[in-house]
Amino acid sequence: MMVSQLDEQIDMEEKLMPRPRRKLVVLICKRCKHRWVPRMKSPIVCPACHSPYWNKPASSGKRSKGKHQ
Ligand SMILES: [Zn+2]
Repeated sequence: MMVSQLDEQIDMEEKLMPRPRRKLVVLICKRCKHRWVPRMKSPIVCPACHSPYWNKPASSGKRSKGKHQ
């Protein structure tokens, strides 16, 4: 089957490419305190609470009194 062959190829590629040793970067969501290791340099949303403002403090000062959710 073609599909199984493709699967094997992908598996081989992963084995041929060992993970480079990098600094372990851990991001902390300022909304839900979730900690995770990002795959991208700047993740768009927190993977736990999906907030796009994970890197911004919850109380920004301007117009924080608006509960529309
Ligand atoms: Zn979060």
